[in-house]
Amino acid sequence: MRSDVEYVRPASLEETVGFLSVHGPETKPLAGGTDLLIDIRSGKCNARYIMDVTRIPELRGIVVTEEGLSVGAGATISEIARSEEVKRYAPVLWKSCLTFGSPQVRNTATIGGNIANASPSADTVPPLIVHEAVAVLAGPEGERRIPVEQSAAGPNRSNVGPRELIVRFILKPAEGGFSEFLKIGRRKALAIARVSMAVLAERDAGGAISFIRFCLGSCTPVACRIREVEDFLLGKIPEETVVAEGGRLAARKMIEISGRRPTTVYKEQAVKGLFMRLLYPMVKND
Ligand SMILES: Cc1cc2nc3c(=O)[nH]c(=O)nc-3n(C[C@H](O)[C@H](O)[C@H](O)COP(=O)(O)OP(=O)(O)OC[C@H]3O[C@@H](n4cnc5c(N)ncnc54)[C@H](O)[C@@H]3O)c2cc1C
Repeated sequence: MRSDVEYVRPASLEETVGFLSVHGPETKPLAGGTDLLIDIRSGKCNARYIMDVTRIPELRGIVVTEEGLSVGAGATISEIARSEEVKRYAPVLWKSCLTFGSPQVRNTATIGGNIANASPSADTVPPLIVHEAVAVLAGPEGERRIPVEQSAAGPNRSNVGPRELIVRFILKPAEGGFSEFLKIGRRKALAIARVSMAVLAERDAGGAISFIRFCLGSCTPVACRIREVEDFLLGKIPEETVVAEGGRLAARKMIEISGRRPTTVYKEQAVKGLFMRLLYPMVKND
């Protein structure tokens, strides 16, 4: 860690944007610190200014607005897991927060930090993507919005600029229907996900899938919707053979995107197996 680091704590969004417009490239926002403090200790973060963003009112709160469900970037994972609004309107995000890290991590880590860190394994990314969330950013040129699906340029490379701050996320509400988030890691708790998946789906009166958004995380450089899988499942009754074929398609797309690696032998099977587990409740209700 450099010796001339300064800690700054703006009290308003205006002050924050003003500071970032001058010092952005030498500054790292600090929210829960569960990623950033590790980077500081390991020497990966060499910022001159550490900017505490925990006192900015605009980053707080979870509210339903005309635009959708608004979740402040400073909302902790525990706050999201406790939110009745999130449980009702963004069930996939809610589920992902229940299995995130440990209670201590959930009480500190924020959703804004999870997205800004741009890890392929970030648990809240696939849920935000299936809810077609946009990130609202504040910067010197005013407000900018980007779909969360485009928020990462690659592993740990964020598309949020150095002079920008994530203020909140706006999610498309999804009430009712089927929703699920699943992940597998090396062990059951406190493990980085090796494969994660999120789905939102609905069925018509005849039982066929009439709406589906599916996102794969952790096993591609950035989490992404696999539209080929969605197109394949649309209009079909989710029988076991259909879901198994969907899983094979998801695994094929994962290999196409990530290329063959030593871990592919495991991940190919893991994607197929997790996909079946993800959609099995729909098969059972057939
Ligand atoms: C023990 C442990 C377990 C973990 N388990 C999980 C897990 O199960 N799932 C998972 O996804 N992650 C996990 N993580 C990773 C981490 O907790 C998350 O990525 C967390 O959401 C980061 O949020 P934070 O508030 O702590 O971010 P910080 O560490 O404060 O910041 C992370 C990055 O985001 C930037 N940043 C923060 N807020 C903003 C903002 N509003 N606008 C722009 N940039 C911003 C920071 O400058 C920094 O680059 C774990 C970490 C630890 C240490």
